[in-house]
Amino acid sequence: TPTIGVLALQGDVREHLAALEASGARGIGVRRVSELESVDGLVIPGGESTTMSRLLTVFELLEPLRARLRDGMPAYGSCAGMILLAGEVLDTRPDAQCLGGIDITVRRNAFGRQVDSFEEDLDFAGIEGAPMRAVFIRAPWVERVGPGVEVLATVPEGPAEGRVVAVREGNVLATSFHPEVTGDRRVHQLFVDMVREVAVARA
Ligand code: GLN
Repeated sequence: TPTIGVLALQGDVREHLAALEASGARGIGVRRVSELESVDGLVIPGGESTTMSRLLTVFELLEPLRARLRDGMPAYGSCAGMILLAGEVLDTRPDAQCLGGIDITVRRNAFGRQVDSFEEDLDFAGIEGAPMRAVFIRAPWVERVGPGVEVLATVPEGPAEGRVVAVREGNVLATSFHPEVTGDRRVHQLFVDMVREVAVARA
């Protein structure tokens, strides 16, 4: 059973832990370097990316986390977690740090203040079955993807039609939306499978 951490500085940590446990992983909250060192993969939850960025510095986790990402640790970021994993962030505070775990440029709060939160049914590449209900809460979108980045989902219709909202590069997965709140475990299952594959390859 892989052990997957959820960065537990701020945001919807419990929902991710529950979704991971329901997907066959052991989930632990990560607040210290020793905890970060003990996990096979890490989820960065939704919340507020500039606050999480500040807390990563305060808790002295920023450089250790960058190091583990460089070393290939699988990571999954939802919403604020996507923002933190990005290589570049638009419309954020000048002092906000990002981790550079995936070669994308994201725009924070991209869907606009008018439409703080909404839901859409999406097709998600590589995930079978019914379309996925995606819940967006002050969500970012992806404005640029690097050459190694796979686009997994886009907004199907409306003013944001075609906007990229799920991506993967190597062992790093990111979604603009929050699968941890819907009871649909397929994204967490995908991430648990990614973590298992890396663990087997390294054993
Ligand atoms: N708007 C938040 C941010 O900029 C993200 C919102 C979320 O994670 N639900 O960090």
